[in-house]
Parts: sequence; C-alpha cells; structure tokens
Amino acid sequence: MKKIGFIGLGIMGKPMSKNLLKAGYPLVVYDIVATAVDEVVKAGAEKGASPKDVAAKADVIITMLPNSPQVKEVVLGKDGVIETMRPGSILIDMSSIAPLVSREVAARLAEKKIRMLDAPVSGGEPKAIDGTLSIMVGGNQADFDEFLPAMKTMGASVVLCGEIGAGNVTKLANQIVVAANIAAVSEALVLATKAGVNPDLVFQAIRGGLAGSTVMNAKAPMMMDRNFKPGFRINLHIKDLNNVLDTAKGIAAPTPLTDEVMKMMLSLRDEGMGDADHSALVRFYEKIAGIELHR
Ligand code: NAD
Repeated sequence: MKKIGFIGLGIMGKPMSKNLLKAGYPLVVYDIVATAVDEVVKAGAEKGASPKDVAAKADVIITMLPNSPQVKEVVLGKDGVIETMRPGSILIDMSSIAPLVSREVAARLAEKKIRMLDAPVSGGEPKAIDGTLSIMVGGNQADFDEFLPAMKTMGASVVLCGEIGAGNVTKLANQIVVAANIAAVSEALVLATKAGVNPDLVFQAIRGGLAGSTVMNAKAPMMMDRNFKPGFRINLHIKDLNNVLDTAKGIAAPTPLTDEVMKMMLSLRDEGMGDADHSALVRFYEKIAGIELHR
C-alpha cells in the first residue's frame, strides 16, 4: 500500500486520517497544532516535521486545511510539499477552497509533473468518523480510478464531477443548498413558534413530506435543544459563501439567496458567534422575533 502524507488534522482531518490507518495505509502526518499530531501518532501514524518533510516521506499527499491561503502555503509556500514531491506523485486536496485556487495550485504542480485531484467533502464530523462522507472530485479519470480505493476508506460516495476545480465547484453548490436550507428551517420554525404552535410538532409533521431534508433532520433538533456546538462553524460557512460569491461574480451567476444568508451569518459573527455551529443561524431570526425555539 502506498504511504500517505496527511496534512491538516482538525475536526475532519483527524477522523479521516484514522480511517486510512484502520484500512492499513502507512501514514505520516503534520499539523501546526502539536496535540492534534500526537493524537494521530498515538493511533499509529508517523510524525512529520513540516509539509516538506511529510512529502519527502510519502507517495501521496492529502491535505484537509481550512481554506485557499492555507492550501497555497502548505503546497507552494516555504517548506511546502512542492519542494520534495517527486514527479508522478499526487496531491489530493480535500479542503473546501476556491475552484480557481485548485486550478492555480494544480498548474504549479504540473510544471513539476506532479498530479492533483481536488476532492472536498460533505457530511461533517459524524460522517468523517464513520468513513461515510460524500466526496466530490475534480481531475482526470485515470488519477480518480487509481486513488478511488483510498478515498473510499473515507467516503460512502465518491463522484468524479469533471476536470480539476470541479470538485470545489460542486462543494460550492452543496454549501448554497445547505445554507439556504438552514435559513428556511429557521424561518419556518420561528414563524410556527410566534404563531403559538410547538416547533417540534411542526418538525415531526413535515419532516416526512416534501419539505423534509437531511439538513432539517440534523439541524432542527440542534436548534430546539439549544445545542450549537460545532459541527460546522459559522466562520467556515462564511468562508464557503465568500468563495461562492467570488466565483459567481467571475461568471455572472445570480446568487440572491446566498447574498441574504451571508448577511445573516456575518451579523452573527459580529456578535461573537462565529465559532458556533451553523444551526445557530436560527439566532438571527429569534432575536428579531423576540422568542427562542424549544420543544
Ligand atoms: P479545522 O479548523 O478543525 O481543521 C483545520 C486544521 O488545519 C487545523 O487542525 C489547523 O491547525 C490545520 N492547519 C491550518 N493551517 C495549517 C498549516 N499552515 N499547516 C498545517 N496545518 C494547518 O477545520 P475542519 O472542520 O477540519 O475543516 C477542514 C476543511 O474541511 C475546511 O475546508 C472545511 O470547510 C471543510 N469541511 C468541514 C466540515 C465540517 O463539518 N467541519 C464538513 C465538510 C467540509
């Protein structure tokens, strides 16, 4: 089995790397947070000293970092993986970043005959732990086929969506749907409460019909239980919606719903809720309505 270098051991990267270990892949890992590295080393990985060091020791590099600037730094920056990756090796970037940056990084790697797939994920921490993420991939078919078994140890669904950057375009589409859906669930349950109807009974009544969704099933209970522990932080969703809006501007795609949800998320961030789960979007509605959801 090829040795994998895994960089970025946060909420998602930690369980994903552990699933690769469980599947028998030898792993060398790095993160700027030492305690995160120690945890995965305890599970059986080797410790890397820097991205460059990880790349010198591995045939395949996987990155799971917050956003475009961190991916550029880890791949192309000082002590970046590009310094030691060998021709023919591959970077699989599983972070959610701007599609244009995926293409830019891939072009720089291609100059050294290094291959790349962009392979962001959806599903959050529980599915990262279970190894049942949805993985949306951009790149060429042969590279996809070669690394499908490794990706399958982390995901239940792995789909090649097009050329490099297509994975992150798909992830932006995903984040538009999730953000608008959380806002719609918030709007509906706050209206029900204001109108004197128990929001939990509304949830029970409509979840099986056309209005039901994975988002509603996951987030409505969190809203009613006042459990805003992330999960997926508002700050990260703002990052993704920024990437949506930047991408949309470049291609003149309309985004009226994303524009509105972005304003709500920014106002919550300004009030110090950036590290809360994105289900805390309901707080935007609750404050205006002067109520709180409870079962
Ligand atoms: P996180 O902030 O928990 O983890 C990111 C990790 O990267 C951290 O451990 C951090 O220390 C590390 N890091 C940052 N800069 C670094 C650098 N220069 N060198 C090495 N390590 C560095 O974030 P996360 O929730 O694990 O998300 C990672 C990516 O996955 C993001 O792009 C996010 O949008 C996406 N994502 C997250 C979820 C979720 O539910 N959390 C779901 C789907 C996709």
